[in-house]
Amino acid sequence: MKKVFKIILKILILILLTLLTQIGGIIYLVSEIIIYKKTKHHRLRKSGVFIILYFGITFLLIPIVAPIFGREKIKNNDFIAAQTIFTTVCNRNYVTPQLNKALQNIAKTLNNKHQGIKLIYLDANFPFIDGFPLLPHLSHNDGKKIDISFIYVNKESNITNKKPAILGYGVYDGPNSNEYDQIKVCKEKGYWQYDFPKYLTLGIINNELKLSKKATKDLLLAIVKEKQIRKVFIEPHLRNRIGIQSPKIRFHGCQAVRHDDHIHFQL
Ligand SMILES: [Zn+2]
Repeated sequence: MKKVFKIILKILILILLTLLTQIGGIIYLVSEIIIYKKTKHHRLRKSGVFIILYFGITFLLIPIVAPIFGREKIKNNDFIAAQTIFTTVCNRNYVTPQLNKALQNIAKTLNNKHQGIKLIYLDANFPFIDGFPLLPHLSHNDGKKIDISFIYVNKESNITNKKPAILGYGVYDGPNSNEYDQIKVCKEKGYWQYDFPKYLTLGIINNELKLSKKATKDLLLAIVKEKQIRKVFIEPHLRNRIGIQSPKIRFHGCQAVRHDDHIHFQL
């Protein structure tokens, strides 16, 4: 019985690592196979091997191999950064070369308007296999999709690179009483998952931040200006509040999740 329980647990770890990082499950399996059970301190050795292999492959090998399969690591620099190290460590920062180029252009345009303000990205795509979704985002499965953060002002009303949630998702700028409430409409239709990301903040760090309508509008303008970008998703009440019109900015549908905590865009 104990053996069966152990096997089930190992399968669950393998699935979880695969869903979170794409390659973690295979590396876990390899460490299980190459470290013989009867060796001294085999658990410690397995963990050591897993960690060395995982970080070596993630940071040294995949960035070189992924381009062969048509995806690149997002180039971080003075204009562009991930909201959390979790994104990079879990290989959730891969895009096609076209999207990488568009991201750099958008980030530079933003920085020209608001010096020192970076494009902060959240989940993008995994490095390999078209059709392999980066959960919980079903559509982030081809290297052509990315989520980015809004831009906020601090207590002193200065534009800042800080964001309210550790993970970047789940802190909503919901509709005011006089604004159209898409969230209510979707939830009434039975789409319970629509505000599910409220559980995915990993903690709220900068509660005092307020959405900067001006800087977020400039960011959206920089996005829609890019020829390669075809669709942009943001919650309808925010599109109206920010005051931006573009045929590229659309409603994502109730089967998705609400987009008043981040912007999604795609080629
Ligand atoms: Zn998205």
